Amino acid sequence: MLRIVLFVSGCVIFLIIFSVSVISLLENEKSASLKYFITGCVLALPFFFLAGTGFHGNGLTGWILAGTFLFVLILILIPLKPANFNKRSIPESGYDERDTMFSRNDLVPGSQQFIDYYKMRPENRVPDDLFRANPGLLRGGTVFYNKAAFAAAESTFETVERLHFLVSGMKSNNRINTDRETITTFIKNWGKKLGALDVGITKSKDYHFYVVGGRRERYGHPIGNNHEFAIVITVEMDRQMMASAPASPTVMESALQYLSSASIAVQLARLIRYLGYSARAHIDANYELLCPVIARDAGMGEIGRMGLLMTPRNGPRVRISAVTTDIPLDTDSSTHNPAMLYFCTHCKKCASACPAQAIPFEDRSNIDGVLRWQIDSEACFTYWTKAGTDCGRCVTVCPFSHPNTLLHNLVRKGIENSILFSRLALKLDDFFYGKRPSPKKIPGWLPGN
Ligand code: SF4
Ligand code: SF4
Repeated sequence: MLRIVLFVSGCVIFLIIFSVSVISLLENEKSASLKYFITGCVLALPFFFLAGTGFHGNGLTGWILAGTFLFVLILILIPLKPANFNKRSIPESGYDERDTMFSRNDLVPGSQQFIDYYKMRPENRVPDDLFRANPGLLRGGTVFYNKAAFAAAESTFETVERLHFLVSGMKSNNRINTDRETITTFIKNWGKKLGALDVGITKSKDYHFYVVGGRRERYGHPIGNNHEFAIVITVEMDRQMMASAPASPTVMESALQYLSSASIAVQLARLIRYLGYSARAHIDANYELLCPVIARDAGMGEIGRMGLLMTPRNGPRVRISAVTTDIPLDTDSSTHNPAMLYFCTHCKKCASACPAQAIPFEDRSNIDGVLRWQIDSEACFTYWTKAGTDCGRCVTVCPFSHPNTLLHNLVRKGIENSILFSRLALKLDDFFYGKRPSPKKIPGWLPGN
């Protein structure tokens, strides 16, 4: 009987780990695949050895081994939720878009806006002069300059720009006559048909919006929350394109997914206006709101150590756009996810991998009334202007960025279920994928410089 239990346990262990090894190979994680294969052999071997002829009489050793296997299995499957992860609070004051790095990057030296801004924020002048001394995003002379890749990204960003004139417009006088549930289902499903990974809905709150605009025609103008609802759209960023981050494919992928999410948002906003309601799309370089915060409130994830939205199935490997509107909609519940915050508290992989040391290693702290992590956006952006790309190293190394497959979703479920599993998953991620994973090679189809 014992020999059968041991043999079956050995087979189960080997087959599970061997399948993971094959999946990793398909995910282009060659080193992880080899490690999984070796681990499967090492773990299964003692079971086969004891089940074989060599240890016939040694029943106690066999039972201890089988018992340990079962004990570990039960331990990681028992629900054990993290404590001390308080509920969310809302910020005490709004955020001025003029303080974002993109707005500061837009300032033309010598212009009135430039002079006024540094009169208002003299402390930002020195760090901003540092990034201005670098070649800049998508410019020649940067570390990851690639003519073809940068041209591809630039042309896609220009296409996003062309969509700016579609973000708002007149609504039809002929209002649709339907109920809230039907229209919510319709909009969500159509958003997904248009290519969204996920569509969430929340009531829009004042703290979701910038208090003052900081780019283009919005510069210096107060921004109001004049719609009751927000539809938030996520699109997936391709893992293979991100794998070589911070090299040039990352900025191509960013541009592409900004375009995808913008295209969905402007179409949904136009659709709602056709239905007789007001709607405004919020897309790249034309956001009036803070995407991670509104997406979190629409039940789409938590905000992690790197300050980005961490979705349950793709982690931070998403881009976000939104539509604010007055069409009556059913909202999604914004479920607090302490398991994700617990994992983030112990992980710190993004902080170790960040080439600009812009991500904190410390625990969350109280910033403007909210317990959260805050990245050093000046250090991050300054690195971008040297690299020429928007980096994305933190997104790529995050364990939640693994593909949305059964294997990784089981691990994500385990992390949600138990803090013991969470700690184990973190150690295993470090072992199999590396504590500080190296960037992969850029795709072979991309021309050189
Ligand atoms: S890499 Fe780790 S610490 Fe950073 S956001 Fe992802 S889970 Fe959190
Ligand atoms: S994008 Fe790059 S530089 Fe910026 S925080 Fe992430 S890893 Fe650091």
